[in-house]
Amino acid sequence: MALSVVVFDVGETLVEETATYERWEAEGVTAPPAFEDRDLHADALPCFAALCARGLRLGAAGNMRAVHEEFLRTHVDFVGSSERWGVEKPAAGFFERIVEEAGAPAGAILYVGDRVDNDVVPALAAGLRAVRVRRGAHAEVESPAGTVTIDSLAELPEALERV
Ligand SMILES: [Mg+2]
Repeated sequence: MALSVVVFDVGETLVEETATYERWEAEGVTAPPAFEDRDLHADALPCFAALCARGLRLGAAGNMRAVHEEFLRTHVDFVGSSERWGVEKPAAGFFERIVEEAGAPAGAILYVGDRVDNDVVPALAAGLRAVRVRRGAHAEVESPAGTVTIDSLAELPEALERV
């Protein structure tokens, strides 16, 4: 089955969480605001462009507040948050909802995330494909044998041949 949809986790996969939280603290933010484009890892938008050029449909879905969905909608075809969907990773229901939103069979969907426990393992269990991007607070966790693992989203277009 050909791959047709790529769905990204948000925290540390697209958004550079540590730097963003540090900036909020430095700015004296009292209530955490919504993420915005400047919070994205530098490799996120070029990766979206490269995947779009290959005719792939894109999504972004993660365990997060619904307020973070808005800035992502300008970059991908569909967005989901655990808050709006009422289900959190690693629950199977989260990935079933992705399949529904993607409008494609699970085997045609790739989920890209930084966590083995919350992203890779449950995505594969739900019949999706998975790529692990190794960065952020969970970077030291080993990928299970056979997991396609990359260090940057810049490597994702090439990694598609291996999933
Ligand atoms: Mg994450």
